[in-house]
Amino acid sequence: MMPAGQLPFSIPEAIVGRLSAARHLTALTGAGISAESGVPTFRQAQDGLWSRYDPTELASPQAFERNPTLVWQWYAWRRGIVDRAAPNAGHLALVALEQFFPNLVLITQNVDSLHQRAGSRAVIELHGSLYRTRCSREGKIISGYSESATPPICPECGAFLRPDVVWFGEPLPAEAFERAAQASENSDVFLSIGTSSLVFPAASLPLIARQNGALLVEINPEPTPLSDQADYALVGPAGLVLPALLDALRAARQTPRS
Ligand code: NAD
Repeated sequence: MMPAGQLPFSIPEAIVGRLSAARHLTALTGAGISAESGVPTFRQAQDGLWSRYDPTELASPQAFERNPTLVWQWYAWRRGIVDRAAPNAGHLALVALEQFFPNLVLITQNVDSLHQRAGSRAVIELHGSLYRTRCSREGKIISGYSESATPPICPECGAFLRPDVVWFGEPLPAEAFERAAQASENSDVFLSIGTSSLVFPAASLPLIARQNGALLVEINPEPTPLSDQADYALVGPAGLVLPALLDALRAARQTPRS
């Protein structure tokens, strides 16, 4: 799905100026960037079958312990939605920004692989992927397992298999977070896109960037706890704001400075 209409504002010149001069651009994305691809965020109403469940309660180790079948089925349903979805204009604008920033670091909280499908080169996945499965006992990534049980069983040790995603209350992959924090610290401009900025430690990354002198720009149709701390909050859907940002940067790069 594409957002209808035009952005009701133009990208502030101060942002374009800082972007034009920047060497290191870092972007952090959340579920909002995939909303226009038809992938629901956690806080959007869920479809029929799943509407009576709270997604934030299904995405937890306790939920898996209580009812592994239910949690596996919920993830299978989410994988089905993502399989049918396609990257949108927001994902594609981030790919195009790599022309200007070959070292662009794209950090995502999403587990849907839509950035990779769009063509982004270096994606740091903070919360894992719907497309990997691991043993719930030993943590090993497992592929080629039988789907005859729900959840499937680890062919090596007999424990349940689970999606390789980070659930609420679980630690982030340390190496991925370390790289994300480093990139945030080094960035000249940091874009926080489509995230509610409620889930830590990912929500600390824009603050690390800001503390180290980056221009902090938030892109979200709704205010978040980050909005007041950002230098700019661009209020609108990522599928409109990011292409507008890209166009503004292209125009600035074509205009020789006097
Ligand atoms: P979230 O659901 O908490 O927040 C989504 C944010 O996106 C909201 O602030 C909302 O206003 C904003 N938004 C909605 N439509 C938008 C649009 N068109 N453009 C820009 N922003 C838009 O999601 P979160 O902050 O990513 O954190 C919650 C957790 O949910 C994460 O850990 C993530 O792993 C997980 N999650 C991932 C997916 C996915 O992979 N697509 C989907 C749902 C949840």
